[in-house]
Amino acid sequence: MTFDKLINDESMLKNLNNLGYKNPTPIQEKTLPLILEKKDVLAKAKTGSGKTAAFGLPLILELDVKKRYETSAIVLAPTRELADQVAKELRRLASSLENTKILTLCGGTPMRGQIQSMRHGVHIVVGTPGRVLALLEKESLNLDFIKTLVLDEADRMLDMGFFEDIEKIINFTPKKRQTLLFSATFDAKILEFSKSIQNDRVEVEIEQESSSIQERFFNFSDEGVEKAIQHFKPETCIIFCNTKIKCKELEERLQHKNYDALSIHSDLEQIDRDETLLEFTHKSCTFLIATDVAARGLDIPSVDLVINYDMPKGEEVYTHRIGRTGRMDKEGLAISFVRGYEEYIDVELENIDSLHVDSPRSYKAKMTTLCFDGGKRDKIRAGDILGALTKELGIDGKKIGKITINRKDSYVSINSEIAQETFDKLKKSKIKGKALRVWMLS
Ligand code: AMP
Repeated sequence: MTFDKLINDESMLKNLNNLGYKNPTPIQEKTLPLILEKKDVLAKAKTGSGKTAAFGLPLILELDVKKRYETSAIVLAPTRELADQVAKELRRLASSLENTKILTLCGGTPMRGQIQSMRHGVHIVVGTPGRVLALLEKESLNLDFIKTLVLDEADRMLDMGFFEDIEKIINFTPKKRQTLLFSATFDAKILEFSKSIQNDRVEVEIEQESSSIQERFFNFSDEGVEKAIQHFKPETCIIFCNTKIKCKELEERLQHKNYDALSIHSDLEQIDRDETLLEFTHKSCTFLIATDVAARGLDIPSVDLVINYDMPKGEEVYTHRIGRTGRMDKEGLAISFVRGYEEYIDVELENIDSLHVDSPRSYKAKMTTLCFDGGKRDKIRAGDILGALTKELGIDGKKIGKITINRKDSYVSINSEIAQETFDKLKKSKIKGKALRVWMLS
């Protein structure tokens, strides 16, 4: 199947080609025709399945750029991280259209800026229920012209207690609208919820593909995590714990042993969560230690290894966790430490000491992230940073990793071996004629 069988908009097809989206994913293949026909769809799809483009493509294709004061679609997501990722993907899909305005409305950011942004008109809003409702109640957001309402990770939003907020938000939207519900799981709660907000819904469920995740289970042992890391040598690894206290303890323990590990949990300020995630996606932090709540909604492509330091309470959460490895055609590995009281695990346990480990050594990340205090607002683009590093400082392009440009700041990861000298040189040089302040993360 190719995209031209589903979409007949030439510039969008070209854009998809530029994005490297050669073929639709199964969820896109099944839902796109239905969504384009304006059906209410209830789709079972996980993060990583391409679900954002499944609902995002029709939103962009239907968009009337001239009507920027008539917001035509709203996407609700459970966490700010997910909302940011959805908005990013929508902007990528809209990059062939000029002057589209896609705005994220989430907590943790002052409302004033959001209200100001809305004054210039918005085509699509992506937000978390709490903040969206607050802005509706202040009459700063108008949903009278909404054609499509999307609830992303609906199961998670219900788990997090957003049901009432969502109901109130729906009351601000027109009765005649298309409602799309995406959920990683289908259970009675979701079906009931769908019934209350969708009309003649069509259910779409993708056959579970044969798993490309290798799962191994070990008897819990005190230093099992370290042994597993020394044996499997992942470049990217998420370690799950059941509580934030355990996350912090494990973070300290691994850092003490010189592992580049950071934890992400609900006690962290949003700004620290963003920075931790950035270090992880930039590969200057190898080990992300997380609780389920903090990890939910994070779009981290291809993690080499998932470790369950604690086994989760139920099978569903287990499936969610290990789904972070082996995504989009990549082989994955998930290893779990079992203490013996997890009822749903009925497998032969291995002994971690049976794995070969090299003599213990530190496990520092290969990359180091540098940060600049200039971003899109200052018209800085990835090419400017790359140009300054390769042309002006003469750094081999192979030693430069991911570049992220935010509104006010930018990040680039550099091979750790040359990070210090690059940092020293950058302090004395300019980027796009501007002397930006630069610093090294962690
Ligand atoms: P999602 O499930 O929406 O979080 O998407 C997971 C990742 O797949 C994102 O990084 C998308 O950019 C990417 N993606 C979405 N659709 C396609 C496609 N048809 N081909 C290749 N990559 C895709």
